[in-house]
Amino acid sequence: MADDIAGRIARIEEKIEAACARCGRKRQDIRLMGVTKFHGVESVEAACKAGISLFGESRVQEATEKFSKFWESRRKDGSIELHLIGPLQRNKAKKATAFFDCIQSIDRDSIIDELGVLTAEAENPIKIMLEYHTGEETKIGFPDMGSLLKAAEKVLSFPGLRPVGLMTMAPFTKDTVLIRSSFRSLVFARDELEKRFSGYWSCLSMGMTNDYEIAIEEGATLIRVGTAIFGEG
Ligand SMILES: *Cc1c(COP(=O)(O)O)cnc(C)c1O
Repeated sequence: MADDIAGRIARIEEKIEAACARCGRKRQDIRLMGVTKFHGVESVEAACKAGISLFGESRVQEATEKFSKFWESRRKDGSIELHLIGPLQRNKAKKATAFFDCIQSIDRDSIIDELGVLTAEAENPIKIMLEYHTGEETKIGFPDMGSLLKAAEKVLSFPGLRPVGLMTMAPFTKDTVLIRSSFRSLVFARDELEKRFSGYWSCLSMGMTNDYEIAIEEGATLIRVGTAIFGEG
């Protein structure tokens, strides 16, 4: 299994390099996240050995069980990062602030308030990203520029929250025109936010197994890849 994972990562690296070459970007400007949902701690270990240092999980409960085991076997020195990329329920918010390095999936105002209050006394602010709804079918995320701007203003009113970028999911389709336009909406939104609240939005988290090469061409700085690394869940 470990060999399979290392081999798949090597092939993804080739595709990332090729996509970078096509659009004149540098490999080092793009982070490859291994999305380990539905996969065990052995998969995390194997990916880590193969050079992955950024991981994503969709559920707080699954992530804490799995990564608590993972942390038993190594020193927690900040060289490995874990992000939440799935919807966060109110009753899991406290646990999430304690466990994740970044919460990418901030998709509504009420969860900003919740996290803002929870982190009011925190020593270090927690990194967050705003999730923008750019796809056709998914209903997750802030639906338009107006709500996104208001959310950004709200986030910045809490000292315990540090916005670092935006995330999106493209529609699940083979239509690359639709996928591309979804990613372009995220780039546009980032540019608008930078004009209003400069300095907080450098990360563009977009692109998954089926569309990460397009995402790179459109400016992704973080791609979230599960199936292509770990196989079907
Ligand atoms: C599962 C998931 C991914 C990874 O999806 P794959 O298609 O398996 O690469 C990326 N982002 C989010 C938000 C996910 O839930």
